Amino acid sequence: MSDERDDQLVVVVTGASRVGGIGLAIGERFVRGGHDVVVSDIGRPLESFPDYEVPPPDALAAAVDALTAIGPGRAIGHACDVTVADEVDALARRAIDEFGRIDVFVNNAGVSLGLKPTVEVTDDEWDRNLGVMATGTFYGTRAAGRHMIERGSGCIINMSSQAGKTGWPLLSAYCAAKFAIIGLTQASALELGPQGIRVNAVCPGTVDTPLLDIDGGPMDAFTKLSGASRDEARRRQLRSIPLRRFATAANIADTVYFLASPAASFITGESINVTGGEEVH
Ligand code: NAD
Repeated sequence: MSDERDDQLVVVVTGASRVGGIGLAIGERFVRGGHDVVVSDIGRPLESFPDYEVPPPDALAAAVDALTAIGPGRAIGHACDVTVADEVDALARRAIDEFGRIDVFVNNAGVSLGLKPTVEVTDDEWDRNLGVMATGTFYGTRAAGRHMIERGSGCIINMSSQAGKTGWPLLSAYCAAKFAIIGLTQASALELGPQGIRVNAVCPGTVDTPLLDIDGGPMDAFTKLSGASRDEARRRQLRSIPLRRFATAANIADTVYFLASPAASFITGESINVTGGEEVH
């Protein structure tokens, strides 16, 4: 895709400080295209899940340095827990204060925990999945949507998953949250379309990011389910992907970049699969 753009966008991305993660790849794609990015992440351990590997607090500053070095777009960082409405509102205000407006708001933050049989999922695991991904995406949509209504334009992009289209074993809380994102995407696209605002979701398949291989993460869970080794679990999963590879974070970032571009100006309410053919509805 060409980097030639006749527009210059202000972009906010949540959950975006992990090296190798999708959010930072999205930030890189926009900065490289000459756009200004507010990169955000929780910036502190998850209180109720202290063992869950979120990026360290200094990752946000490192992400800003990395994006600034890439340029030519500008980057700033802002810590924000997407489960707290006030923090999401403050994130939107910071973007407007620094760069004057928000053109694109990417609700990317996510967690991969509680991957176990539904009957074993705890209340806290359920709440955390729904809190970060469903409620967090709602807070982001509301904060960005209010601002974009005033401006009469804008674009909201929500990170769902192929697990937001089809149920997967061991992922019931994750699936419920990602299905919720698709419903929210469709409803808000119908409401906001007449005001010049497009809302779409991206549904990645398996993406080769650090999240995939963390303890308690998808590969760990599928290994326990099947009794296969991690290598064998990877090989089995690859066999179910027609293009015979996992997605890269850059593949997902390119899709987000396209959805924000004039080339996608008539696309709204969609939930686009980026799964190498594994998910086709
Ligand atoms: P990642 O863990 O690198 O990114 C998720 C980010 O969200 C992390 O930086 C984490 O700190 C942040 N986060 C968690 N809780 C938060 C909170 N309360 N507030 C703010 N930020 C919070 O994982 P990733 O693979 O880059 O995933 C990015 C998105 O893509 C997620 O929504 C994920 O569900 C989705 N996704 C990933 C895959 C995959 O295979 N990796 C597949 C489909 C969808």
